[in-house]
Amino acid sequence: MPKKYHIHPKTMPLDLEYVFKFKIVRGENCINCGKCSKVCIYQAHKRSDTDPRKMADPNNVVCRNCFRCIQECPRGALEKSLDKGYLSTGGGYWKPDMLITLYKQAEDGNVPVSGAGYRGPFTGTGFDSMWTDMSEIVRPTRDGIHGREYINTSIDLGRKLNHLVFGAEKQLISKSPDTVDISLPILFDIPAEKLNANVMLAMIKAAAELNTFVIMPVADITTEYEKHSDNIIPRLSAAEIDTHKEMIKKARIVSIEYDEALSKNFAGIRDKIKKIGHALTIIRVPAVKDVEYTVTKLAHDGAEIIHIVADYRGQELNSPAGSGSRHLKDIIRSVHQRLVEDHIRDEVTIIASGGVGLAEHVTKSMLCGADLTTIDLPLMIGLGARIYEEREKYLVFPEGIATIPTPVVTQRMINLMSAWHSQILEMMGAMGIREARRLRGESGRAIFFEEIDKDTFGKLF
Ligand code: SF4
Ligand code: SF4
Repeated sequence: MPKKYHIHPKTMPLDLEYVFKFKIVRGENCINCGKCSKVCIYQAHKRSDTDPRKMADPNNVVCRNCFRCIQECPRGALEKSLDKGYLSTGGGYWKPDMLITLYKQAEDGNVPVSGAGYRGPFTGTGFDSMWTDMSEIVRPTRDGIHGREYINTSIDLGRKLNHLVFGAEKQLISKSPDTVDISLPILFDIPAEKLNANVMLAMIKAAAELNTFVIMPVADITTEYEKHSDNIIPRLSAAEIDTHKEMIKKARIVSIEYDEALSKNFAGIRDKIKKIGHALTIIRVPAVKDVEYTVTKLAHDGAEIIHIVADYRGQELNSPAGSGSRHLKDIIRSVHQRLVEDHIRDEVTIIASGGVGLAEHVTKSMLCGADLTTIDLPLMIGLGARIYEEREKYLVFPEGIATIPTPVVTQRMINLMSAWHSQILEMMGAMGIREARRLRGESGRAIFFEEIDKDTFGKLF
């Protein structure tokens, strides 16, 4: 049995201004009796450091909205209301609740309980129109998640053999291609917005701790980061290969942008990289209309890993949301289907990106046909960054993020991945799947709202 993979979370609060769902305000009629500090098990109420006779301002970061302090205050001095900032953050895709969930997960690595008393809708768009099979949840095999049986979340990146070839003497002729094994089906990607050096370094360190990689634009890889080259995937265009030979030589994987030069001479570019070193090559393909055609062609031409990149809401690129553009889950299903029809699916690794904002999105992308996903924005949201979708994608970091020590930022990213790892294990356990590799394309383990809606009402309406 392989060594069990553990992530070690550690509570790591950030002392920065952040938006929370509810805001607690202590009124002037407070008599500083301290009862609220006794009843709040999350220590949201404490006495002031400078004057212990008085209460400090409530700490909204740790509040879990149980309302106990409100009920038990003898003076009715505490007020809880929806925070105005909360209502204005996020948008149609990155909903405020999602942002708060990610922030809390980064805080301590725990999974916030959110299902009890859920009164929201049971379907939506994108990943929300897909439900996963939970039929194993009531069976004894579920013990596997926390004990007897090991659920493996690792996956391999690289080209796989379709079949083995033997010689006349029955000797094995096929040579296994090189692969790279990572412990989680997640790579880190650098968002389009400029990040400060502290956050970048933290991403690399967290990736190393988690046994995964960060995909970094080659221009961002300074000499300081180069010593972590084991966990960095340099991202560059085909035209930049000659300039960055030394970096490619040290890398275990490189990411090359799909552009006109590459589409015309894929084999030449692939061979050039192989001559420089031993790096596996990811081809980064934009998720535009007809991406299936590009991916299938690349797979036939021998691509090892293909990375399909949708926009930050998981929508097809170059087509505005609502104009019939597809969501990542539909793009991946279609690509997977094409590769299966061409009998080449097992040979190539497919990475899906765009709009992956919760742990369930990783599992759902894999059920649709991806081998793994990348994430960028969730790591930033875990640091208190907000997204405002209404104007355009706009990532705003809380003031002071640059001064937070790197180990704190790193640990918050590890905490976030620890929470996601636990959730992925829960979902896999509930589906009775013990190997993350087996999630790929298991769409029979999912229900797609659009399909059952059509099956049920299509004939009537
Ligand atoms: S319980 Fe009420 S009165 Fe007592 S310290 Fe807390 S807010 Fe003030
Ligand atoms: S609502 Fe509950 S968790 Fe929040 S501060 Fe009051 S007692 Fe603590």
